[in-house]
Amino acid sequence: MNIIKKSEATYILVINISEDLKIRVGQLGEVFFKEGDYIYIGSAKACLEARLQRYLRKEKRIFWHIDYLLRSEKTKILRIWTIDKKVECQTAEVFYQEPTTKIIKKGFGSSDCKCLTHLFFVKDKKKTVKILKKIGFSAYYSFSKFKIDNPLL
Ligand SMILES: [Zn+2]
Repeated sequence: MNIIKKSEATYILVINISEDLKIRVGQLGEVFFKEGDYIYIGSAKACLEARLQRYLRKEKRIFWHIDYLLRSEKTKILRIWTIDKKVECQTAEVFYQEPTTKIIKKGFGSSDCKCLTHLFFVKDKKKTVKILKKIGFSAYYSFSKFKIDNPLL
């Protein structure tokens, strides 16, 4: 377990979508999500723990774009990665440049910044993990009760 002590932190949610999904995401309108794995990049100022625990519950009020996706029964969080500094947008930039991660919808998760998106479709899990580790992220949470085809992610 990675213990976050500093007040600002960035987290990565590794999300699996089990079937193709078309949902309305607030003002972004209808978004199509192909089945597969995704990463979502977010940050928290003071209450990372509470924020992450909130993500792990299905029933919650809709507040962020990611909530629309996570409330679906077809989605689940496989793992959470964290780093104790605010590198949300820099991380998004890395994955924007990376050929094995793909933008799904412009504006998703990036209403408060200038990034194209904070959500990416993952084509190569191993490569994604390698990049996260290189940036300095560590594994914070893993759902052991779910079957994960790649133990690294
Ligand atoms: Zn950003």
